Amino acid sequence: MENNSSNFIRTIMKEDLESGKRDHVITRFPPEPNGYLHIGHAKSIVINFGLADDFNGRTNLRFDDTNPLKEDQEYVDAIKEDVKWLGYEWEELHFASNYFEEMYDRAVLLINKGKAYVDDLTADEIRQYRGTLTEPGKESPYRNRSIEENLELFTKMRDGEFQNGEKVLRAKIDMSSPNINLRDPVIYRVSHATHHNTGDNWCIYPMYAFAHPLEDAIEGVTHSLCTTEFEDQRPLYNWVVEECEMTHKPQQIEFGRLNLTNTVMSKRKLKQLVDEKFVDGWDDPRMPTISGLRRKGYTPEAIRQFVKESGVSKGVATVDTQMLEHFVREDLKMKAPRTMGVLRPLKVVITNYPEGQVEMLDAEINPENPEMGMRQIPFSREIYIEQEDFMEDPPKKYFRLFPGNEVRLKHAYFIKCEEVIKDEEGNVVEIRCTYDPETKSGTGFTGRKVKGTLHWVEATQAIPAEFCLYEPLILDEEAEEADTDGKTFLDMVNENSLEIIQGFIEPNMKDAKGQDKFQFFRHGYFNVDPKQTTSDKTVFNRIVSLKSSFKL
Ligand code: ATP
Ligand code: MG
Repeated sequence: MENNSSNFIRTIMKEDLESGKRDHVITRFPPEPNGYLHIGHAKSIVINFGLADDFNGRTNLRFDDTNPLKEDQEYVDAIKEDVKWLGYEWEELHFASNYFEEMYDRAVLLINKGKAYVDDLTADEIRQYRGTLTEPGKESPYRNRSIEENLELFTKMRDGEFQNGEKVLRAKIDMSSPNINLRDPVIYRVSHATHHNTGDNWCIYPMYAFAHPLEDAIEGVTHSLCTTEFEDQRPLYNWVVEECEMTHKPQQIEFGRLNLTNTVMSKRKLKQLVDEKFVDGWDDPRMPTISGLRRKGYTPEAIRQFVKESGVSKGVATVDTQMLEHFVREDLKMKAPRTMGVLRPLKVVITNYPEGQVEMLDAEINPENPEMGMRQIPFSREIYIEQEDFMEDPPKKYFRLFPGNEVRLKHAYFIKCEEVIKDEEGNVVEIRCTYDPETKSGTGFTGRKVKGTLHWVEATQAIPAEFCLYEPLILDEEAEEADTDGKTFLDMVNENSLEIIQGFIEPNMKDAKGQDKFQFFRHGYFNVDPKQTTSDKTVFNRIVSLKSSFKL
């Protein structure tokens, strides 16, 4: 990885190269195209691509598409886009489905060696026969079929002579193994389903545990990195490589999954949120998907840095979402132009400012990064300020606008509240102020001090804009583990995770386009929503507010 900090996988690779066990490193990122990528996948991507790169190795993108019922071309396309957007280039592009013929041949080889058999037990029966952690399994009555009979039945399975579930092919290993994964695992099933890649060519499909090691071996993957829930499958992985007589022998290494607080990550759950319309798609800015984070305004740099800092270990890491937010602030601090937007407008009329006059004020685009230059902001007799920046009857220590008080308008003048205008119901609809021309920003005025600084936009030229403010999607911090007591994560969906408000932005932002990012004074970082923004409506997604209590 870029920062070259050490982790146990890097150590293994280094030792393998030094000892001569390997003379190069090849990794792969192997998503199943059954959903969009999420931030957990970003960890796998950063580790696989990053480590291979450290050793001048290569990384392939491989679609693990052995389950046609759940897979789709839409997901293939989205995954490619997301990997590229994160900043990685794969060496080779592969589909597990391209190896179906070879996998079939390897299964036939197992049958010929007496290491696989066709079983007629139902899925339920297989489960009952499997035993438990404390009890050994029972052998299937079909376990000792002859090689000839198995070959014939497997051919018939391929030829479509059986219904789904009627027969399976099982590896013949050890029904009393302490490792349940080795108790004759199913390696092929019948599934009359159209595959996004191979169409109707096949009606039997290999199981993940059989297919994955073969895919790695075929592609010459040296280090096959996966998450720790596959640790118990490693003996089976090695068995498949060995018994299928693969010449190249990849090594499986497991690392801990990345989870985030206040969200769910498994694709099954994310799909449920999409299908049941809790969100408006996989790329909804509230989703922990790469496409959702992108649309919200996260940058690839921030995501990569976050993943690196979250570390590589064997343990599952549930990381505070605030840490992710920390890294996007860090990244945008130097990059995002500063601007002013009023989210909940209140009209202010400056009574002693000449009617019809508009002056242009100069402001730095980003004081943290002077190279970004200057922008111009119009100022006139009518402006909008934030409703919350005025109180008719303020508590102590309220330093914003109230009757008789003077405040600074950012980049402009001091104004003083002289009069409050209300409608018939008593709502404040307008504030009348006076301004002091001596106090113009940038002129070095030191005559007197004021405590409050307000942002504002000039009213006649202000551009209406929509702001989407987000809260966590799931109310439970440990939502990923929360399927207990009959409650599921769906019961914890936050009904107030999105607030949409109509406000105004500076006129110099008229050309803002999808994915442009800004820091709005006091409100935080915002991204122009590429999906909802049209030529006559600009929609901003709040990426993150300015303040955080998070400490790295
Ligand atoms: P999910 O349970 O979310 O569907 P998955 O593991 O089934 O995830 P795959 O498409 O099979 O999803 O994953 C591709 C790669 O990404 C695998 O190597 C997997 O281990 C890794 N991966 C998936 N989720 C995470 C995560 N939360 N943290 C780290 N790596 C992950
Ligand atoms: Mg999976």
